Amino acid sequence: MKWILIPALCVTLRAAEPDWKAVEAHALDVFQRYLRIPSINPPADTRAAAELFRAELAAVGITARLYEAGPKGQINLTARLEGRNRTKKPLVLMNHFDVVPVDRAAWSMDPFAGIVRDGYVWGRGTLDMKGIGVMQLMALVTMKKYGITPDRDILLLATCDEETGGELGAAWMLKNHGADLDTEYLLDEGGFGTRDILQKGKLVFGVSVAEKQNVWLRLRAKGTAAHGSQPIPDNSNMRLLRALEKAMAAPDTGKPHPVIAEMLKTLRGRMDDNKFTNAIQKNTITLTTLRSGVGDPVKVNVIPSAAEATLDCRIQPGVNAQEFVSEMRARINDPQVTIEMLSNPVDAGASDYETPLFRTLRSVIKKHHPEADVTPIMVPYSTDAPKFRRRKIPAYGFTPMILSTQLIATMHSDEERIPLDQFQTGVKMMFDVVRSEF
Ligand SMILES: [Zn+2]
Repeated sequence: MKWILIPALCVTLRAAEPDWKAVEAHALDVFQRYLRIPSINPPADTRAAAELFRAELAAVGITARLYEAGPKGQINLTARLEGRNRTKKPLVLMNHFDVVPVDRAAWSMDPFAGIVRDGYVWGRGTLDMKGIGVMQLMALVTMKKYGITPDRDILLLATCDEETGGELGAAWMLKNHGADLDTEYLLDEGGFGTRDILQKGKLVFGVSVAEKQNVWLRLRAKGTAAHGSQPIPDNSNMRLLRALEKAMAAPDTGKPHPVIAEMLKTLRGRMDDNKFTNAIQKNTITLTTLRSGVGDPVKVNVIPSAAEATLDCRIQPGVNAQEFVSEMRARINDPQVTIEMLSNPVDAGASDYETPLFRTLRSVIKKHHPEADVTPIMVPYSTDAPKFRRRKIPAYGFTPMILSTQLIATMHSDEERIPLDQFQTGVKMMFDVVRSEF
């Protein structure tokens, strides 16, 4: 037996357990410097962010590759930590450098100062998604620094453009460097740990395996322009109102999507009733804009010849977008109302969650939060994950943090922040995933 023990001992000596106090301090320092880079999209100038990542990786001997996707500093980055098992395809850790704009007047501090206050890290991008980006970066850096080789290759992919659809980010990388992204699995943003969204008072970690499709529509009603003093039946505004009422009356989808059924099973049949859980269980239609009238300021005494509205529809995976629109057109049943599709919906389906990586995520979550229930979930918003999911690559939205409804509401909004202790735990959780064999 002795000859078995000796190599095991060698591995232990070479790969020291990270000094977590030092890793935590370093992760926070990187996070704060990263938050101070205003990588707002548009224009998604992410050069400084990419240089920060490159320097951190170079410091431990990992060479990053930068890709210039656009003329305004739109930079994507990849970096590879080589694994022991060369026959296995890599795990991709994907994050995005870009953030949405801010309404500075609505913040109580500079959103690009990387401030730590009252136990939170504040700033644009803390949640979406520089925090997770740093966790992913630190997983590679820490592994390399402490001489720990992962089972399979770990490929970090940071993109410049997610917030305006990913055309220069994930889509650009897949189109121009798809061969570099030949992967077994992908981890991205999407899911989260919660005590008050899925079931009040119960800690549930949702790992997203599916998301809804964006079907953005413009409805345009035509009529006859006329003087407001004499009502006419062919009034475009009235026609639009009637059409909207019928458009919004979409029938229920019937039986729950398999991912929803799985969530209900984990939650023992009881899911809270709120806007998140409502949105994931059905196709939704939201009236977002109305436009009509003649002149600026609009004339009160003129009946306009046209009136427009936009609808932000989110349909479940497995629902055909063209059929969804045809059904809406049939409900409206008015040749004077046109429906124009403004988005390019992609049905990526749901990723398989009976996989070794999903089991690893489950056990890492349980290690750090033993009381948590872990479940695959569907999310109502969109990320870059379906771009991979549609290629049959299991893509999971994994946010290793417990977040409240109140905190999640700061995403794309004012006073965006994450709890510092959740960030630090997340750094360890991401490391534990990358260190595992799956
Ligand atoms: Zn995001």
